[in-house]
Amino acid sequence: MPAIKFRGVDFIGFDALLNDDERLVRDTARKFIEDNLVPIIEECNRAGRFPRELVKPMADLGFFGASLNGYGCAGMSNVEYGLVTQELERGDSGVRSFVSVQSALVMYPIYAFGSDEQKNTWLPAMQKGEKLGCFGLTEPDLGSNPGGMRTRAKKVGKEYVLNGEKMWITSGSIADVAVIWAKVEDEEDRVRGFLVETDRPGFKADDIHGKWSLRASVTSGLSLQDVRVPESNLLPGSGGLKSPLMCLNQARYGISWGAVGAAMACYDCALQYSLLRKQFRDQPIASHQLVQEKLAWMINEITKAQLLVLQVGRLKDAGKVQHQHISMAKRNNVWMALECARLSRDILGANGVADDYPIMRHLMNLESVKTYEGTHDIHTLIIGASVTGIDAF
Ligand SMILES: Cc1cc2nc3c(=O)[nH]c(=O)nc-3n(C[C@H](O)[C@H](O)[C@H](O)COP(=O)(O)OP(=O)(O)OC[C@H]3O[C@@H](n4cnc5c(N)ncnc54)[C@H](O)[C@@H]3O)c2cc1C
Repeated sequence: MPAIKFRGVDFIGFDALLNDDERLVRDTARKFIEDNLVPIIEECNRAGRFPRELVKPMADLGFFGASLNGYGCAGMSNVEYGLVTQELERGDSGVRSFVSVQSALVMYPIYAFGSDEQKNTWLPAMQKGEKLGCFGLTEPDLGSNPGGMRTRAKKVGKEYVLNGEKMWITSGSIADVAVIWAKVEDEEDRVRGFLVETDRPGFKADDIHGKWSLRASVTSGLSLQDVRVPESNLLPGSGGLKSPLMCLNQARYGISWGAVGAAMACYDCALQYSLLRKQFRDQPIASHQLVQEKLAWMINEITKAQLLVLQVGRLKDAGKVQHQHISMAKRNNVWMALECARLSRDILGANGVADDYPIMRHLMNLESVKTYEGTHDIHTLIIGASVTGIDAF
């Protein structure tokens, strides 16, 4: 890549709103990404390869289950955890997705709904990156409306037998354990979570190929045919659709910060490029008003997004956050990041479509981020329901 190196994005002294610990966590994650992910990510993206060699170093830095306490986890605040996801996604949304799934969608439900035995078995190993997880909620025919899921669990003696299909599952084929959400036939179809070891007979994961987005992340379809698990694999504290939605809230929160990271990467690259690139009268393109308008729009929206997600993080740390707050942060910040990626791509002209620069990769990644964990429009409806009291789904 030409001599463009990330310099940080802070227009209004945002850093002064962070405490010393938060800045230290952010700077440590930033350096890790700069030294370890940035040099290899374009190759990974081209090859459609998940950089598995980074799992252990990320574990050593406490990135997995970072905001959980005990079991070897780092016990970070929610703001600190958010700053880690910001830096991860500044590197790549696919790598951030891997960490989000491991932390928010697998370790969190084990932590929140699991038995002591389940916690002791899985959490220390997952924190160390020795065991990987995936989260199976979406099905081929049911995405935005997971309540319609067809996957079923039936109690047979001291076992549950699971049958169903899950689709678009991050880390599906590299996971040691899958958190599978299923309706339990003997409990009037109540949704419950199960820990399914992926080497159980009847469990199959096939990768989805041909993705133009999140290419450095593994995405799979899962098939469960008469998969038998002991009754001790049921997450005992799970019950009803609110359980997976609680997990999604954790992950959406991390995405809200992550999107800021992707936007910062695009903006800073476009800004530096615009000062170097000359067109007409040997002037940098940054001297043209129309280019400045794009840069001003981006720094304006990034700054608002930083403030929004920091306040949501402060509410979360104070135990006062509500799901509609997280929906607003996810919806706004991912939209903002996608717009920044498009404007930055435009500023780079033809160079914007090549992987000498990170922008097109971020742009394509963010299309998935806009869709998963509740689409942009589903979050519109969540905010709408919150302010009107009327459910419009
Ligand atoms: C790369 C990637 C990784 C993923 N990883 C995971 C994972 O690890 N685990 C997992 O369980 N899932 C995962 N997903 C799935 C993701 O959560 C779903 O794609 C998402 O929930 C949307 O579902 P869908 O794709 O079926 O779209 P649909 O639900 O079919 O929606 C299609 C369109 O219809 C709109 N729409 C739907 N209902 C309404 C409505 N009531 N009003 C207005 N508009 C509506 C949507 O907003 C969208 O624009 C992943 C997806 C991708 C792309």
